[in-house]
Amino acid sequence: MSPLTGTLYVVATPIGNLGDMSDRARQVLATVALIAAEDTRTTRPLLTHFGITTALQAYHEHNETAATVRVLATLASGQDVALVSDAGTPLISDPGYSLVTAARAEGIAVVPVPGANAAICALSAAGLPSDRFLFLGFPPRTSSQRRTWLAAVAQEPGTLIVYESTKRALATLADVGAVLGERQVVLARELTKRFETFWSGQPAELQARLAADPEQQRGELVILIAGCPTAAATAVSAEAQHMLTVLAAAVPLRQAIELTVQFTGAKKNALYQLGLELGLGGEVD
Ligand code: SAM
Repeated sequence: MSPLTGTLYVVATPIGNLGDMSDRARQVLATVALIAAEDTRTTRPLLTHFGITTALQAYHEHNETAATVRVLATLASGQDVALVSDAGTPLISDPGYSLVTAARAEGIAVVPVPGANAAICALSAAGLPSDRFLFLGFPPRTSSQRRTWLAAVAQEPGTLIVYESTKRALATLADVGAVLGERQVVLARELTKRFETFWSGQPAELQARLAADPEQQRGELVILIAGCPTAAATAVSAEAQHMLTVLAAAVPLRQAIELTVQFTGAKKNALYQLGLELGLGGEVD
């Protein structure tokens, strides 16, 4: 990398609540020579709100090649550039991948300025396992393609995270139920905004609730789907799982297993395996 080249900053912006704009994001956007923005009409009001007057250049999927050349030329001249998308973190279901790879190929420093991201925001508060997850972005728009797409991840044990338009939420929930079966699903809508909601339930249940409430079919939505249940989890009833989890928080796992066997009749081996998978306790002899 030439010492004269500028730095490309990849800057996250809020997904609704302007209070989530970081001090560092503001400072970087105010001091770079140029901001490459997915839609300048969306970014300009954000900059105005924070009193930032930096020049903007459009960078979106339809002008990516030409815009990349222009941004690289600015960086090569020693000036810093920031990349932003309409909301959240650039490159996450948003433009920027080809610019970042091209900059890296040229030996230009690429620096992330982290902030809001709808997927992580939703996962952090949904109440579904967060130790392992698979971000899937947007599903295909037709039901048959969507079902094939869901079938490909049916065995994934981690939580599935999907971006979806609220207009297609009902149809997508129907496909989730048909392909993945009864699993816990969370609809995280209008995150960080005034009418933020988290709805949790089985696909059919959520479909009925959503169908009855047109207001909830507006705005922005992240769908989270519990991962594929393990063999041990399938072998143990929901009641026994719940009892084991509650008891294991209070007594040693061995005792929790014995009590759960006694009260529910669940198989000891399956409970033991489940206890390990859920990280419920220490040693069990
Ligand atoms: N780059 C963004 C990010 O970091 O999250 C995502 C951009 S993607 C084009 C837009 C999708 O993200 C929306 O259709 C929705 O699925 C999700 N999304 C963005 N903001 C959201 C919000 N405030 N509440 C719920 N979902 C949101």
